[in-house]
Amino acid sequence: MNATTTTTPVRRGNEAELVAKEELPPLQHFIDGAFTTRTDAAGTDIVNPSSGTVICCVLEGTAADVDLAVAAARQAQTDWGATTPAERSDLLLNIASRIEENADILARLESLNTGKPLATSRDDVSGSVDTFRFMAGAGRALTSLAAGDYATDHTSVILREPAGVVGVITPWNYPLLMAAWKIAPILAAGNALVLKPSEQTPLTTLKLAEIIADLLPAGVLNIVTGLGPVVGERLASNPDIDLVALTGSVGSGKAVAATAGNTVKRVHLELGGKAPVVVFPDANLSAVAESLRTAAFYNSGQECGAACRVLVHESVADQLTQLIVEQVSTFIIGDPTAGDDVEIGPLVSEAHYHRVAGYLERAQKEGITAAIGGAPLEGPGFFIAPTVLTNVPAGAEASQNEIFGPVVTIETFSDEDEAIKRSNETPYGLAASVWTRDSARSIDLPRKLHFGTVWVNSHLVLANEVPWGGFKGSGYGRDLSIYALEDFSRTKHVMINHAR
Ligand code: NAD
Repeated sequence: MNATTTTTPVRRGNEAELVAKEELPPLQHFIDGAFTTRTDAAGTDIVNPSSGTVICCVLEGTAADVDLAVAAARQAQTDWGATTPAERSDLLLNIASRIEENADILARLESLNTGKPLATSRDDVSGSVDTFRFMAGAGRALTSLAAGDYATDHTSVILREPAGVVGVITPWNYPLLMAAWKIAPILAAGNALVLKPSEQTPLTTLKLAEIIADLLPAGVLNIVTGLGPVVGERLASNPDIDLVALTGSVGSGKAVAATAGNTVKRVHLELGGKAPVVVFPDANLSAVAESLRTAAFYNSGQECGAACRVLVHESVADQLTQLIVEQVSTFIIGDPTAGDDVEIGPLVSEAHYHRVAGYLERAQKEGITAAIGGAPLEGPGFFIAPTVLTNVPAGAEASQNEIFGPVVTIETFSDEDEAIKRSNETPYGLAASVWTRDSARSIDLPRKLHFGTVWVNSHLVLANEVPWGGFKGSGYGRDLSIYALEDFSRTKHVMINHAR
């Protein structure tokens, strides 16, 4: 590629300063209210992505571990589901306060395990607190159609009940936050759950269990660590689980849905994305570039809603590219010990680093230009330079596949119809944004884009009150908001004959 970078990640501290050994959580499963190990268990090394060194080793659970956890959840759910919304709300509020009291260690542990800048981990912790607080309130407001007479002499009542026992599988990009997005609505709706964190980043999920263990009735929340095709597979196949929810890649989503089909289980999928950022000539281009600094590169671009695919009108493409490159050229890259000013950390693992580097190499072979970045950075750790790829032709691999790294592609369009068609020409349907000052276009265009969230003159702004989830290859089901509570519950019609 034409552009290279000489940026070296900033390193000021060391791993021991981030988290002391005694601050690590118990490295065991959390089943029926207690941490437990089976003696024949194998282990997975947990790696610090900033250095490549091993932090600790976590149990590889088995189908038998999952079955134990499911039995505990099933036992606990009956009493938990019979509590009032107010009682469940109290528990969620207490969990929120406990997370807040432990915010510092949770943030440091998240940064150690994922390489995220500390500022990003702190956002994840405060976001998790807000999710528990929102669901504590929203769970009390959950209703269904109250009652009505629809057949002669019969009165219908619609009850909303817990779904039952929920299996949850979470990814590595926001380990604590994605756990919170599931645990809070699932408990608020009166369910019990068994959660499997990513085998790469289980530490904050285990820490969460440790710090809230005394608040929870035994068995309502169970954690089993281990591999997707073993522990995750059993969560999808165990007949005593009523619903399985996965946040992860499309491939894992397909596998879970196929397995869940054998027991006719409900499935809730939050999968990948490739968000188009559609920029019209009347847009405030400086605002687009400033927004992309966060929306495209937050969490090193390892973000399912990342603003990673710019589609800009050809008349302003050069100007916008220049503005984005200016933003990217001032990033502070480093490991979490390098201080609060770090904005970009390493990628989560060596395998993912090679995957993203492979996309950049293939883009280069296809003749795509890097306006800035375009290559890995010097180790140790799994750093990739923040990259802007220009002259990306329609249909190029880099603009179609989820790269999931600090990489933005820029394509051009010549009219609105082409912009809509090209935006929708992706298997994903999670998120998109439209940038324009034309009021009619700002209302009309979101309706024509097939994505679960469409921002206008903004990107990647989330709130617990509004739903998050995709269409098409990005899955189905909604996280956050009252819609998550609906997804994790079921309706029952009771019809009473009162003829005399
Ligand atoms: P991944 O699919 O590799 O892993 C996610 C989880 O699924 C892990 O816990 C893994 O162990 C498990 N898993 C893997 N194979 C499985 C199988 N056969 N059966 C059951 N479970 C299995 O995803 P990842 O690499 O950890 O996360 C990145 C992906 O997650 C990206 O595609 C990203 O877009 C997506 N994501 C989506 C959202 C969203 O809200 N839509 C949020 C965060 C991440």
